[in-house]
Amino acid sequence: MNGPGRRSLLLVISAPSGAGKTTLCRRLLGEFEGMTYSVSCTTRPPRAGEKDGRDYIFLSEEEFRRRVDAGEFLEHATVHGYRYGTLRSTVEDALGAGHDVLMDIDVQGAASLRAVARGGDGGDVLRGAYVDVFIAPPSLGSLRRRLEGRNQDSGEVIAARLQKAADEMAHWREYMYFIINDDIESAYDALRAVVLAEHHRVVA
Ligand code: ADP
Ligand code: 5GP
Repeated sequence: MNGPGRRSLLLVISAPSGAGKTTLCRRLLGEFEGMTYSVSCTTRPPRAGEKDGRDYIFLSEEEFRRRVDAGEFLEHATVHGYRYGTLRSTVEDALGAGHDVLMDIDVQGAASLRAVARGGDGGDVLRGAYVDVFIAPPSLGSLRRRLEGRNQDSGEVIAARLQKAADEMAHWREYMYFIINDDIESAYDALRAVVLAEHHRVVA
């Protein structure tokens, strides 16, 4: 019988730092061949080991502004004094090629994209493709232990991340799906189930 093909998704994942977003996103990209990671633009300087075009598209303040004025961003925001944004073309090209697009973005960025997807300016690109998932740690105590275990941040940075995590957690109800990353295998099973189900959803 005739029916629609598999739906392409714009899959937005938000999680407090340390909740396991990177681990879960890597597994998704490893399993779903048609899924691409959306690389954002930023005006912040690259950190050691970061590659232009892979981790971010690094732009000057002036170039970023020019692209904002030209309407090239689907959404953009200022975080910690630097500008960040998602290019319309990144998402359009990937969805147009039948790929799923995976975005790792904070609650503020997700709120902007959600507003666009639900009828805001430029929403035609996203309509029917947008899906968002909030990943939470089992508790703030376990989040602290994971951040300490990762051995990447100083005590001060960890304290700031925990405060930010508590603020971000307050937004979980805004998301379509909510997954607690207690056991990584169960959390990943839930996440891949969301992707599989959403591929087959009939969109009005
Ligand atoms: P994020 O990208 O959200 O900051 P990561 O994926 O880097 O988080 O995970 C933070 C740390 O917690 C890593 O050391 C990771 O191996 C570990 N981790 C992830 N998921 C779990 C889990 N379910 N149980 C225990 N540790 C986990
Ligand atoms: P970092 O500089 O540590 O990589 O990211 C800082 C913050 O910017 C993170 O909270 C991240 O989610 C957010 N961010 C990264 N890319 C984008 C984007 O394209 N748009 C928005 N709104 N935020 C982003």
